[in-house]
Amino acid sequence: MIRTGRFAPSPTGELHFGSLIAAVASYLQVKSGSGRWLVRVEDIDPPREVPGSAERILRDLQRFGLQSDQPVLYQSERTEAYEAAIRQLLDSRQAYWCGCSRSELPASGVYPGTCRTGLPPGKKSRSIRLRVRDEPIGFTDLVQGPVRENLAESVGDFIIRRADGLAAYQLAVVVDDAFQEVTEVVRGADLLGSTTRQIYLQRCLGLPTPIYAHHPVALASDGTKLGKRLGSDPIAAASPQRALELALRFLGQSCPPQPELPELWHQALENWQLAKVPRTAFTL
Ligand SMILES: [Zn+2]
Repeated sequence: MIRTGRFAPSPTGELHFGSLIAAVASYLQVKSGSGRWLVRVEDIDPPREVPGSAERILRDLQRFGLQSDQPVLYQSERTEAYEAAIRQLLDSRQAYWCGCSRSELPASGVYPGTCRTGLPPGKKSRSIRLRVRDEPIGFTDLVQGPVRENLAESVGDFIIRRADGLAAYQLAVVVDDAFQEVTEVVRGADLLGSTTRQIYLQRCLGLPTPIYAHHPVALASDGTKLGKRLGSDPIAAASPQRALELALRFLGQSCPPQPELPELWHQALENWQLAKVPRTAFTL
């Protein structure tokens, strides 16, 4: 199987330094192993989208010389695939309709299983939840190390189809990672907490589990400083070389400055070591 990595931005703004890091890390990790790198636009949540954002992010990636090896996949065009997966989970009784509104959920955020055995009288179908098992799910993250989570304790049965009819983020990601034959997911540690839910969903749907590596994220307070040093954040105004050099430093990579972007990429690929990526962020 061809090694396949991906970068999956949400079109909710500009390409920021934080998302550039995810693009660079996923690109270098898979390209240093002669794999292919794919871009997927996660435009599954229209209320949160900023018009024109997807086009600007894709244009910025091009400025950096980051080119998807396949046509860009748009989640907004994948509704049928998500519905098929949801149907599969409902038919196999791994998922069920829930009639609870957000205000009815406990402060802990852990779903108490109110509709697990059927909708209580007076409740209408709203969302669809996945039944989770009371057992730990473990995986070894290539940067963060071993992770273990019992979903029954941390989140409970979780939503795979929202009350507004849209597929939930976790479901869409899992269906698309399988569709794009992604073998390795390199992304920010802000998504580490989603991973066990995604692995559980993969098992429920009979899909393969990719390898995971979660790099640290540039914190908001640092982001301001980084932005100043880049000239601005969003990074559209910064020179690609400068922004890429900072991204490489943030990822713990040693890479001598280069006069031109192609040479910098060449050096970055030659020198890339996932083992050097720090577990937590540091100030540049
Ligand atoms: Zn419910």
